[in-house]
Amino acid sequence: MSAQSNPVMKEAHRIAKANDQLITKIDTARKTNAQMPTIEYIVISTHSPDSKKLSLNVREHKSSKPASTIINSWRNLIELTVIPDLFNDNLNYKCEKYSDLVRLNKEMFVVAQKFELFGDSARAKAELEKFLTNFQSLHNNGFKQVEKLLAEPHSDLQQISKKVNDINCQIENMANINLNTRFQSAQITCEYCGKADTPLTRYSDGYLCCTNGPHPNSNAYQGQPVTDTYT
Ligand SMILES: [Zn+2]
Repeated sequence: MSAQSNPVMKEAHRIAKANDQLITKIDTARKTNAQMPTIEYIVISTHSPDSKKLSLNVREHKSSKPASTIINSWRNLIELTVIPDLFNDNLNYKCEKYSDLVRLNKEMFVVAQKFELFGDSARAKAELEKFLTNFQSLHNNGFKQVEKLLAEPHSDLQQISKKVNDINCQIENMANINLNTRFQSAQITCEYCGKADTPLTRYSDGYLCCTNGPHPNSNAYQGQPVTDTYT
């Protein structure tokens, strides 16, 4: 990438380069494919025996996923501005997966450089501004998000607990005003065989399963059981 004289192009170049550095970092994580710690939050509802009260509680579930799984399953539909295709580049602006981020960061830069050749025309400036906005979107809504997923997660439990407590207060207020309200739980069942009368265990792959296995074709037993057990 050559040195740019146009200040907008200079800024676009700076961000595209920052994106390249994140690509290097993310690709390194993919190659080593280490297990990355992840935190999920499970909200559990309980109601009082007389069905008059309902409260929600949030629990933290720590597990880990391979870096490549995290990168490959990342999705965010990023709305990019489609810039008129003056040079027949046929850029595909659809941006949803990590591979789209990488492709667009590279391909948009090549096209932006062609626009820069227009010099200081108002048209060229306007289009370069759009490219700059697109590079920023790739950075903020794409690369930085993937980078964050691969970093050591910090717990949001306190924050989520506070929100859940607010919801509990609202439920309580509602029940105090509407005295004929009753709370009931839907029966929790094994997500594979549908049985409800046995202990159910949440596995790290997300399945809630009973112990009446084997459950052929189910991933449940390949997952590691986690602490939440429903009886
Ligand atoms: Zn089952």
